Amino acid sequence: MSIVEFKLDPWSHVMIKDYEKLFQYFGIRPFNEVINKLKSVAEPHYLMRRGIIFGHRDFDRVVDAIIRGERFAVVTGLMPSGKMHFGHKMVIDQVIYYQRLDAEIYLVIADIEAYNVRRISRDDAINIALRDYVANYIALGLDKKNLHLYFQSNYKIKYYRLIQLIPRKLTLAELRAAYGEDIDVGKVISVITQIADILHPQLKDLGGFKHIVVPVGPDQDPHIRLTRDVAQRFNDELGLTPPSSTYHRFMSGLDGGKMSSSRPESYISLNEDPATAVQKLMKAFTGGRATAEEQKKLGGEPEKCVVYEFYAYHLIPDDEELRRAYLDCKLGNVLCGECKLKAAELLTKYLIQHNDRYEKALPKVSEYVEMPDF
Ligand code: SF4
Repeated sequence: MSIVEFKLDPWSHVMIKDYEKLFQYFGIRPFNEVINKLKSVAEPHYLMRRGIIFGHRDFDRVVDAIIRGERFAVVTGLMPSGKMHFGHKMVIDQVIYYQRLDAEIYLVIADIEAYNVRRISRDDAINIALRDYVANYIALGLDKKNLHLYFQSNYKIKYYRLIQLIPRKLTLAELRAAYGEDIDVGKVISVITQIADILHPQLKDLGGFKHIVVPVGPDQDPHIRLTRDVAQRFNDELGLTPPSSTYHRFMSGLDGGKMSSSRPESYISLNEDPATAVQKLMKAFTGGRATAEEQKKLGGEPEKCVVYEFYAYHLIPDDEELRRAYLDCKLGNVLCGECKLKAAELLTKYLIQHNDRYEKALPKVSEYVEMPDF
């Protein structure tokens, strides 16, 4: 496969089957080359230890900042469309991890992108953001400490000024090369706004230089590369420097396809009622063999199994317990029916506890984010 065929597209959420190609074609570096350095100052998150966060650009600079006690910030965003599902949770787990390492957190609600690109009304975008995302973030453990949580439509004047300045350092040809020939006006605005989202924490009047890391899926790498180029072009004028990034694997959809907010059968929402969630999980695609005899003889294939992904990404935080689940599958000690029942039990327990925290978090959302006035 050539680089021409292997194109990343931030708006289509492609499934990436061959992560090695990302190292080869795009210059993303393997995460395992920085993990030991991180270990010298902090326990890596289990998503890092398990290779689910598999790549980075310049993350070593962020680790150096942590070691030296320098300021660093994490920037990420949410698209207020559809329900928050377990694929989304992975990013917030990382944000909370960094927040506990004293990072400043910049969390943008992309209500303008939802309006322009996804055609979602302003009211719906605002309500979905607060009810389906912010309340879940609080329930997952997001703290108010060092937190800048804002709507794209309702933020600081200096952020808007940066959006206005960025076009001078970009060409339409670059945008077309990164996002395709059919990029429209709404997408152009979204790209420029996202660049400002990532870079504005370094502006002199907004706290000044700090290292920045952006945790993303590999489909978002075109945004990252362009943002790094723009930062470089503003280095003399505004003192901006290229952000670092980390890359995580996507969770598969329950049916083995891609997990997508527009296909409820492909995901389990964090607010799903446990009985429905279990029904969905019991139908999920597995790495099991055709018959029980075959499975006992050959073992299962956890690498291809959606249930195992739920274990590794969310339900089994203890590495040794996860290793046992992996080996039990691999050695044919367990059949998929029994394994799914165990996953269902863990999932039910998780959802009951999470939803209890979610109900308590809902009335608090306005303490975390200022509402746009229209
Ligand atoms: S035994 Fe469990 S982990 Fe293995 S393939 Fe079946 S469901 Fe997946």
